[in-house]
Amino acid sequence: MTINFNRYEEFVAAVTSECSTNFVDFADRIGDLDRQGANIERLLTAGVGINAEGGEFLEIIKKMVFQGKPWNEDNREHLIIELGDVMWYVAQATMALDISFDEVIERNVKKLEKRYPGGSFEINRSEVRAANDR
Ligand SMILES: [Mg+2]
Repeated sequence: MTINFNRYEEFVAAVTSECSTNFVDFADRIGDLDRQGANIERLLTAGVGINAEGGEFLEIIKKMVFQGKPWNEDNREHLIIELGDVMWYVAQATMALDISFDEVIERNVKKLEKRYPGGSFEINRSEVRAANDR
């Protein structure tokens, strides 16, 4: 199969929302979300940052696993620094969502206790989830 990248770009453009391609629509959407009560500037900061810093965390692991970087105290410290950067953005998210970090953890524990009622991981329960189990 030969891929024509220009045709693929046309396809991608056709299945992309106006908010992703037009500044006025993007700005209007940001305004709409603000008026709906979303703290969209902080949510966007958190979402972008959690993933960017998570990528920096993963980059260190990638270099250890695939590029011969050793497991040593310097890399451990670097991982902790990047984890702290992730946490800074997690705090942005908890502020945007008006929820405490404790409550997020409590909710996560409840969700996983429901998914794994026996209290331990099971592949089947991991793969086959209830419709409302996200
Ligand atoms: Mg960082």
